[in-house]
Amino acid sequence: MKILALNCGSSSLKYQLFDWEAKQVVAQGIVERIGIGDSFIKHEAVQLGKSGTIKYAIDNHEVAMQWVINALTTGGGAVLSSMAEISAVGHRVVHGGEKFKKSVLITDDIVNHIAEISHLAPLHNPANLVGIRAARASFPEVPHVAIFDTAFHQTMPACAYMYPVPYEWYKDQSVRRYGFHGTSHLYVSKRAAALLGKDAKECNIITLHIGNGVSCCAIKNGVSIDTSMGFTPLEGAIMGTRCGDIDPAIPMFMMRQLDVGPKYMDSLLNKKSGILGVTGKYTDRRDVEIAAGEGDARCKLAIEIEAYRLRKYLGSYAAALGRVDAVVFTAGVGENSGLIRQKTAEALECLSLELDTEKNMNTRSKNGETEISTPNSKVKVFMIPTNEELVFVEDVVGILKGTYTDHLEYPYTFKNKELM
Ligand code: ADP
Repeated sequence: MKILALNCGSSSLKYQLFDWEAKQVVAQGIVERIGIGDSFIKHEAVQLGKSGTIKYAIDNHEVAMQWVINALTTGGGAVLSSMAEISAVGHRVVHGGEKFKKSVLITDDIVNHIAEISHLAPLHNPANLVGIRAARASFPEVPHVAIFDTAFHQTMPACAYMYPVPYEWYKDQSVRRYGFHGTSHLYVSKRAAALLGKDAKECNIITLHIGNGVSCCAIKNGVSIDTSMGFTPLEGAIMGTRCGDIDPAIPMFMMRQLDVGPKYMDSLLNKKSGILGVTGKYTDRRDVEIAAGEGDARCKLAIEIEAYRLRKYLGSYAAALGRVDAVVFTAGVGENSGLIRQKTAEALECLSLELDTEKNMNTRSKNGETEISTPNSKVKVFMIPTNEELVFVEDVVGILKGTYTDHLEYPYTFKNKELM
């Protein structure tokens, strides 16, 4: 069974073709700069070991979809004889609001519901919908499934998701914590439970997804009870270009000082802050670490801020959970930066957590899932490469087979330790 996973942005379309029986990615790629000139498609036929880039004027997502079909079925990188080999399509949808608590089969009604909550993610949901419409038009015969970034966090209790602001903001405007990166937190927490040799329902886990975007999650008995991103992905830990937690009075103060409006302030907080704001030049943490090593004071400071704030999340989520079985580092930085992991989790006697310093510093995502705590550490620490696409595929197949109920009950095959 072949499943196509799509992740559609306003000017991009990422795709991955997955072979369910082999549990392998067959091909993947991205169409970039759709409708803004200089567009191109980058395609990789993973198992054939072939890849290539074609530049072409791609004006809209329908044309982009056609290019994906061409790349998958024709030329040297072809991996399908025809698109009829595809059994289903999984679509990443960023915001599911309070409506979507799990993945769903897409119908016209579902498309309308996603459109109704698009104001909650104006940069993402409309683009996701464009992708859904283009793909449904291209593959009308197969089932399409929506997988939401927010769904995993819908189990949070009200004390975690409500903000102490006028209650009408929640009732009338849907202002509350939603959280994002749900498929990643779900995946690595299930894997951590498997590595602990336990059912996810018995485990309390703190997951730290540290990439360009960063979010932390407290998972109690298998379900999310708190997460650091909030109403938008701007809240929480410091990120590549986003500020994360700051005094909410600062934007108002700076708008008055700089005489700028909310739109400009929004872009300053989302695109010019975080690691970029502190260092003044970098978002890529590799650059930051190299410059810090060469003595750049602001790069050193950015590393200290990032790790200190992550450490505070670890502490607060440990208190929220009461008992912690494991801490997981994942995503670009979490998987590859021994330095950030060390500064975040070293000398945490208060949590009975002991990092294996040497193993930690030598662990990268290419090593695969690795335990980086000492044998004595009561709380286990893992580096687990994330695999959001596998969650897509698991959910799609579960829905096709009628075995999917929800995140907790669905018997994800990757529960099996040997599988990975
Ligand atoms: P996103 O999906 O949010 O764009 P990723 O999970 O791909 O982000 O992570 C991107 C980040 O991971 C970049 O800042 C990159 O520098 C960082 N990263 C990748 N490898 C390393 C490394 N070896 N050391 C430090 N940071 C790394």
